[in-house]
Amino acid sequence: MLFVMLLKNSRSISSKPRNMTIRTRIAPSPTGYMHIGTLRTVMFDYFLARQSGGQFIVRIEDTDQARLVPGALESLLSTFQKLGLDYDEGPVLQPDGTIVEKGDYGPYVQSKRLDIYRPYADKLVAAGQAYVCFCTRERLEDMRAAQTAAKQTPKYDRHCLRLEAEEVAKRLAAGEGYVIRMRIPDGEVAFDDAIRGVIKFNLADVDDQVIIKSDGFASYHLAVVIDDHLMKISHVLRGEEWISSTPKQIVLHNMLGLQMPVYAHVPLILNPDRTKLSKRKGDVSVEGYLTKGYLPEAIINFISTLGFNPTSDQEIFTREELVRLFDLSKVNKGGAVMNTEKLDWMNHQYLAKLSANELAQAARPFLKTTVDNELVHRALLVERQRVNRLDEFDEKIQPYLFSIEYPKDILVWKKASPEDALQQLENIRPVIAGLSDDAFTQMSLLEAAVKEYIGNQGLQNGNVLWPLRVALSGAEKSASPFECLWVLGKEASVTRIDKAISCLKSI
Ligand code: GLU
Repeated sequence: MLFVMLLKNSRSISSKPRNMTIRTRIAPSPTGYMHIGTLRTVMFDYFLARQSGGQFIVRIEDTDQARLVPGALESLLSTFQKLGLDYDEGPVLQPDGTIVEKGDYGPYVQSKRLDIYRPYADKLVAAGQAYVCFCTRERLEDMRAAQTAAKQTPKYDRHCLRLEAEEVAKRLAAGEGYVIRMRIPDGEVAFDDAIRGVIKFNLADVDDQVIIKSDGFASYHLAVVIDDHLMKISHVLRGEEWISSTPKQIVLHNMLGLQMPVYAHVPLILNPDRTKLSKRKGDVSVEGYLTKGYLPEAIINFISTLGFNPTSDQEIFTREELVRLFDLSKVNKGGAVMNTEKLDWMNHQYLAKLSANELAQAARPFLKTTVDNELVHRALLVERQRVNRLDEFDEKIQPYLFSIEYPKDILVWKKASPEDALQQLENIRPVIAGLSDDAFTQMSLLEAAVKEYIGNQGLQNGNVLWPLRVALSGAEKSASPFECLWVLGKEASVTRIDKAISCLKSI
């Protein structure tokens, strides 16, 4: 029998759907945290659903009990919340830590759906499209070892396919352990991947996949096909590592008479040297990037445009723009390189867009100081030009909060003498002390006042501005003197100038 299923139009309907409700899903296994690659697929799912008025669903695939990690589901769901990503159906984490479900096609956690799968497997057994297998682990291991030694690809040898129905019934009645395997037919299958185009498989290379495991649970392959069907999923987006699973799932759809979804296998994310992204948790988990001080919107912009760029001349996109512009057929087929320098640049751009309040709120968890006053807010506003990530702020704002010690020679501009530095500071002190409170509300007013003084006195900028800046910041490299004045305010500024004066006077 030849199974050729060419979904000729899936490429076009995948991104510009007509007469079809788009329902996408992400189906993570709760084995730890949200991987940055999963987020990329999440975003593509989200854009497809939102641009068509469809739905985006979160389904948890936790049937592999051996791989479960306590707390992983909560961590995954909280990452959605931290990123401000809403989904239409699926489990939702409540503020009290409990999980409730929303949507009409639930439960959305597979371990609560175990009863649903079995009848499908029984139907396949009855139709001769699946069979009971009693092979022990030892037999399977010996078989694989022999196949490998003979340079064959390990594959179940269909030992139990040859059993008579009577014998199967007898062994089942006796309580012998078993699994159910699907019987892969002969021939070929093909599908039109919405990113990669047509992919063909020779079924002779495909193993008789276990669909019911020895613990009675459905395997991933059966559960995924049944759930995508029952949840009316139109588009299955997932990592490219699942391509080799697709022929088994196509065969299952065919055997059960189910309509196939559109498949799109999203390319891997690579290190700059094009190796598979390192497994270190901080480098691959979305939570890790949030902890390093990247803003949710920057992470989303970055990951959504990794291997997909809607226009050649734009890098920063709002979520609404991405929803409008996303096109599955324009996602690059090759692996996408994770360039953290670009992420840093992007985060810098997003930091620049925040209002004073938003910036203070975003930076707060990264600051050691509990002080939350105007000075801290102003310091953040000034220093954001010099940081890429929120975790860099703490060090940057320290000099404004605490006056720091510095060697007196850094007060002296390279073209001037210590005497001149002292003179300039003594002269400008009363100017600063005499400025109105109003002048301290705007940096431009402070700059205008200081520059007017320099002009009136016929002085060089460097002679005045260098010692003033170092007196205020305590550092050789820092924000401008006007920025420092604005952050510190009059009183603290004058105190710091006094300190510099006495420093220069000391031997
Ligand atoms: N449960 C699979 C995973 O952990 C999902 C594969 C799929 O989307 O079909 O990635």
